[in-house]
Amino acid sequence: MQKIEIVEVGPRDGLQGEPEVLGTAMKIEFINRAVAAGIRRLEVASFVHPKKVPQMADAEAVLAGLPRRKDVVYVGLVLNRRGFDRALAAGVDEIGMPVVATDTYNLRNQGVPTEQSIQDWLEIAEAAHQAGIRCSVTISSAFGCPFEGEVPLARVLDIAGRVAEGRPVEIALADSIGVGVPSQVSAMIAAVRQMLPDMPLRCHFHNTRNTGLANAYAAVLAGVSSLDASIGGIGGCPFAPAATGNIPTDDLVYMLNRSGINTGVDLAGIIETSEWLGETLGRSVPAMLPKAGSFPEIASGKAA
Ligand code: ZN
Repeated sequence: MQKIEIVEVGPRDGLQGEPEVLGTAMKIEFINRAVAAGIRRLEVASFVHPKKVPQMADAEAVLAGLPRRKDVVYVGLVLNRRGFDRALAAGVDEIGMPVVATDTYNLRNQGVPTEQSIQDWLEIAEAAHQAGIRCSVTISSAFGCPFEGEVPLARVLDIAGRVAEGRPVEIALADSIGVGVPSQVSAMIAAVRQMLPDMPLRCHFHNTRNTGLANAYAAVLAGVSSLDASIGGIGGCPFAPAATGNIPTDDLVYMLNRSGINTGVDLAGIIETSEWLGETLGRSVPAMLPKAGSFPEIASGKAA
C-alpha cells in the first residue's frame, strides 16, 4: 500500500493567520490533539521576530509545554540564523526553512534577497547536522508569486539544486498563494525528481482557488512522500495578499484513505479536532468533511 506522510501545519501556518493572538495552552492542546489523531510530524512554531508575527511570540513556551515522544517530530520554522539558534535552544526536532523563489517576496518575508536566504540555509543546514537535528527546506511561491507573477520552472530547479547541497531530509515545493494547478504540479515534480532522483519531496498547498486537493493528488501521483495540511483548513500567510487556508487535513486524509493510500491518521480524531478548533476560534472552519461527515459509516467524530 502506498504511504503518504501528513505534516500538520495548522499550529504554525494555520494559527499565524488568525487575527487574535491565541494562548500557549490552546496551541499545546491543538498539537496534542493532532498527535492523538495519529499525526507524527507537525510544524509547531515559527522562530521569527515577535513584532513581525505576534502570534508566534510564545514559540519557546509552546515547545517547553509539549510532551516528547521518540515517534513525533516537532518542526520549528526559521528564517535566518538567529531563528535557528532560538529553535535549537528551544529543543525542536527539526528546523524548516523557507527560501522564496522570487526576490521581491523573499525580501518581504525575510528581509533579504533569495540568494542570501540560500546562503543562510546552507549555513543553518550545516549547523543542524552538527547539532544532530533534522533540517528541511521549502521553496516558497514556487508556483507563482503575488508580486512577480509567473515563476519560471528553471528558477525553481536552480534553487532546488542549490538548497539540495544542504542535505535536507527533503525539499518542499510550496504554493504559498494557492495559484498552482495540477498540470503544473506534475511537471514541476517530474523535473525536480529528474534532477534530484534520490531527494524526498513534500508539497505545501493553499486552497485559495479551490485547486488545493487536486494539486495534492497530482503531487501524490508524481511521487511526493509528504504533504502539508492544516486541520480544518485554517490559515493563510499574513504577507501574501488574499492568501487563504492550507488544504484541510480532514478532506485530504479522507481523499487519500478512500484512494487506498495509507496516512496512518485517524480521520475521526481529525474531525473531532476540527470541531474543537471551530468552537475555540468561534467560527466554522473551511474543511468540508466536518460539515458533510465521512463516508461510509463514520459520522463526524463518533465512531471509527
Ligand atoms: Zn503556507
